[in-house]
Amino acid sequence: MTHFCPSCWSEIGAECLCLVCGTDIEEMSTATYTEKLLQALYHPEPTVPVRAATILGQLGSTSAVEPLIQLAALTPDLYLQEAAIRALGQIGDARALPLLNKLRREGAVRVRIAANEAVGALSRETNRK
Ligand SMILES: [Zn+2]
Repeated sequence: MTHFCPSCWSEIGAECLCLVCGTDIEEMSTATYTEKLLQALYHPEPTVPVRAATILGQLGSTSAVEPLIQLAALTPDLYLQEAAIRALGQIGDARALPLLNKLRREGAVRVRIAANEAVGALSRETNRK
């Protein structure tokens, strides 16, 4: 899994220290890291929110569910919408289902595909519990 520095958003691979700005990722608590990722969902540089959504999905962060739902519902950026949907599928929280079901009917093609897969992942998740 690739990490991104939550201060300058450089790719830092598996390092614990950002080589660009020197931020110590290891020292940051998971809560702080998640917090910064949530803020980054509205970062003006368009690639940053996509990365942030992807990482939140990989972290399986349940505190990201509501923000990701909001983002997926409101963003005009299809790539970001897709990333938010995939993250919601990975996190596997049923709160996302109403929106995912809506987007799988009404979204753009790539959004519909992502929403379909996310719903599939979610129902597998629900069955396991
Ligand atoms: Zn950095």
